[in-house]
Amino acid sequence: MQNLKLPIMINPRKSAQRRLVCDGFFEVSGMTRLLDVCTPCNEHMQVNVKFDVDDLGLNVISGSGVLSVALICQRCTESLIIDLDIEFTLSPAKNDEAAEALPSYYDAIELDENGEVNLLELVEEELLLAIPLIAKHEPSQCQAPVDSVWGELPEELEKPNPFDVLQKFK
Ligand SMILES: [Zn+2]
Repeated sequence: MQNLKLPIMINPRKSAQRRLVCDGFFEVSGMTRLLDVCTPCNEHMQVNVKFDVDDLGLNVISGSGVLSVALICQRCTESLIIDLDIEFTLSPAKNDEAAEALPSYYDAIELDENGEVNLLELVEEELLLAIPLIAKHEPSQCQAPVDSVWGELPEELEKPNPFDVLQKFK
């Protein structure tokens, strides 16, 4: 079951009535917006998605997954590997009004004209949200000098006296 490829388009209402549980993978090459901002470490992303109907009769899509990606550290500009750990609980809404009416513990997901949602885009969106705004290594892992070092110049850099240069122009 681990090697099952997940469907990209899925009908959440029908799936919720069947209490469908999907455990499978997405091909990361299909996530073009994600590929624009980072380099995934794997070709496949394992995702678990569950469809259910809650006590209020709402259809619920919940799921989780992890994808390791390489980003550029903003301090030392070296590569930085992080795990994008996603977890989501959504309920489909036909329009903005329906989305507003959802209980606050659900995020709304828009249905297309066929009553389906794009599961791949949904997962991609969650991954994009999980990317840190400023990616950087832990201080102990980072190649950049530690902040406190910036205050003192190494001895060799202090030696040339800029006034010596100015003297020559006089
Ligand atoms: Zn770094």
